[in-house]
Amino acid sequence: MEVLVEGTRTMQVEKLLRERDIRFEVLVSDTNGATGVPRRARSPILGFRQRSPLKRYLDWKDFYPLNSVYSFLEDLETSFPSTCTVSVIGKSVEGRDIKMLKISNSDANNTGIWIDGATHAREWISTSVITYIADHIARNFDKLSESCTTKDWYLVPVVNPDGYHYTHTLDRMWRKNRARFGSAVTGVDLNRNFGYYWGRGGSENSSGDPNHLNYRGTEPFSEPETTAIKDIILYSGTPFKIFLSLHACSEVIAFPWCHTAEPCPDYVNLLEGGTAMAKAIYECSGRTYKVGNFKDIMYFACGTSIDWSYGTARIPFSYLVELRSKQDRFLLPKEEIIDCCTEVLSGVKALIEFVDKKKCLNCAVNAKKLRQ
Ligand SMILES: [Zn+2]
Repeated sequence: MEVLVEGTRTMQVEKLLRERDIRFEVLVSDTNGATGVPRRARSPILGFRQRSPLKRYLDWKDFYPLNSVYSFLEDLETSFPSTCTVSVIGKSVEGRDIKMLKISNSDANNTGIWIDGATHAREWISTSVITYIADHIARNFDKLSESCTTKDWYLVPVVNPDGYHYTHTLDRMWRKNRARFGSAVTGVDLNRNFGYYWGRGGSENSSGDPNHLNYRGTEPFSEPETTAIKDIILYSGTPFKIFLSLHACSEVIAFPWCHTAEPCPDYVNLLEGGTAMAKAIYECSGRTYKVGNFKDIMYFACGTSIDWSYGTARIPFSYLVELRSKQDRFLLPKEEIIDCCTEVLSGVKALIEFVDKKKCLNCAVNAKKLRQ
């Protein structure tokens, strides 16, 4: 970006840029000089700082700010009105819309698949992958296999819009939402705020300290972002069979439980489904995603969305997928976005085919209790 600064303001602008760590270069120091070339300053800083907030079209060659992601959803709805519906499922702490795209042929026999991303603000690739899947499903709906068209697709590319916006403007490494504690914005780790075994098991599993990266919030579902997910899942009337929460950056496909090392009742099914996904990813790109229960391949965590979706909402195939990349962590090079999107799309398709082939789709948790 090149800007012309009034002479009396140069010190002020220079200070402002320095304070914000925005690099700049004075191209012409005095436009009143003999050259007649305007005074210009250049700021070739971190890519996300100068991106136009009006950029609309996603091409999966870059990461995009919130308004571009939302424009993309609305463009899909306009282009494919018979299958695509955008709705606002809630408002964030700072009042931003949490938007969801539903893709469905409205057949009453459909089962539901849920995919969410950017629960953790800095995990941008999760939003890229969901928009890519949305684009693929919406554009090719008539040509897709029956396993894809007999689903109601519930896609939330940005669960945490405040945090996502914040990572695009001020702090690339922000993780939590933007909840206040007292006068300070400390944020809640939304993936510790869900109501299943919330806050149990001590500080290893989630923290009661608002300044901690894994702060769980004041009570289960204290945050509007997690409440929005809970309400849609429980009250939409759709029988969800698959719940996928996309994160970054460990390249794993993890399933419940997160709060205990005990295997969940559907351990074998979940392991097989995860393996089908991992195999498809490997065949697509050669990338190896580890599969296992969350505790075994990650760590202990309480109040996660997949423990809740499996344990309370009883969605039998609940997974947390950690996308690329182990090497670059949250700063995935944009050249890798498209590869990550295509591999995960293959994985998701393999998972839904696997789930469709399974005769018994019901979550086995609490099944004993229900039979009594
Ligand atoms: Zn995450």
